[in-house]
Amino acid sequence: MKKDIHPDYKPAVIKCACGEVIETRSTKQDIHVEICSKCHPFYTGKQKLVDTGGRVDRFNKRLGMKK
Ligand SMILES: [Zn+2]
Repeated sequence: MKKDIHPDYKPAVIKCACGEVIETRSTKQDIHVEICSKCHPFYTGKQKLVDTGGRVDRFNKRLGMKK
């Protein structure tokens, strides 16, 4: 019989740079991340839409011309 062929999953703690702590199970005990679901712009909505090269502006102008 072979022993220890499966990774030993233990309770792990993921710590985010924002201070959020997520408890999970992993082979690693301490995981540090820079961004999590709590501080990600997609979830917080704090970050404004990045308008690269005025693409949105041009699109709006084109819509206005058709009217
Ligand atoms: Zn975070």
